Amino acid sequence: MRAAVLKEHGEPLEIEDVDAPQVTPDGAVIELEACGICRSDWHGWQGDWDWLGIQPQSGQILGHEPAGHVVEVGENVTEVQEGDHVAVPFNIGDGTCHECRTGHSNTCENVMPLGFVEQVQGAFAEQMHVPAANHNLVKLPDGVSSTDMAGLGCRFMTAFHGLAHRADIGAGDWLAVHGCGGVGLSAVHIGNALGANVIAVDLMDDKLDKAKELGASEVVNAGEAEDVPEAVKDLAGGAANVSVDALGIATTCQNSILSLGNRGQHIQIGLTTQDEQGMVSVPTDAMVMQEIEFIGSLGMPPTRYDEIFRMVQTGKIDPSAVVSETVELDDVTSRLESMTDFETVGIPVIDKFD
Ligand SMILES: [Zn+2]
Ligand SMILES: [Zn+2]
Repeated sequence: MRAAVLKEHGEPLEIEDVDAPQVTPDGAVIELEACGICRSDWHGWQGDWDWLGIQPQSGQILGHEPAGHVVEVGENVTEVQEGDHVAVPFNIGDGTCHECRTGHSNTCENVMPLGFVEQVQGAFAEQMHVPAANHNLVKLPDGVSSTDMAGLGCRFMTAFHGLAHRADIGAGDWLAVHGCGGVGLSAVHIGNALGANVIAVDLMDDKLDKAKELGASEVVNAGEAEDVPEAVKDLAGGAANVSVDALGIATTCQNSILSLGNRGQHIQIGLTTQDEQGMVSVPTDAMVMQEIEFIGSLGMPPTRYDEIFRMVQTGKIDPSAVVSETVELDDVTSRLESMTDFETVGIPVIDKFD
């Protein structure tokens, strides 16, 4: 089968003919129809996240926003069958540990980030293998396309979990979203659907325009504002109640916290870059004085996807709204390269693998 294989960090992925995956007794093989290209792939491609122990090595197939059809299941798999239309959350759980059994498989004791470690080769390929398939596959509703649902593997569901499960958003609360890449735009769209007034923050006007389309009531161009947190506070007529760092650099993290008022909630969704290596200094005293919460949020457990699907069904949210373009497997490297300069708007999705 064809796959885009990492050779050296920062060097073009090589399109190679590799062995198709073999099904394990608990696993399933998926024929890919769509896979989003995510900033996390860019991080893996750059060789980041060695400080997290998930730096992809040479030979890794990246790609973690897959949707497609099940073509083979192992003998122990009962929850899905050949032909099922599925998405795969990137936070692959073992399905058996305490976290998984209590509905928190996104923080599974043996969590495997799809496409970042050897045990779970990613979805920049014609086929992929998913371990613990009873647990890790999400059946898609009838009538949706794989391309439209590609963000459900990562960015769309990550934003949903952060805002719907980790934050406490009240009707009319001001929500600031710092960084309007794929996950940030998803957060704008979902935050609006959850009843928040959304202020989108980014350096690029085309991303802010997209944010407005997706429901932001106000925008701040961080390159033009003299003081980003003050600009957010002015627009909110006080301060943000909830604020998201959807990028993961020191500036967006700090700006997000400084945008908040008393008892505000900062949601950290973005993982950091080579510059921070996991460590960002935060306005600790202000957080004490204002009783500000710092909340981490990782992916989403597969058991909660029905909440998204119920909102999709009634038109309140639409994962396809953040999909910006479809590309071919051979285009992955060029899209990763354009992420270096933050040039992609929304989610580019591969829909042609052969
Ligand atoms: Zn991702
Ligand atoms: Zn587990």
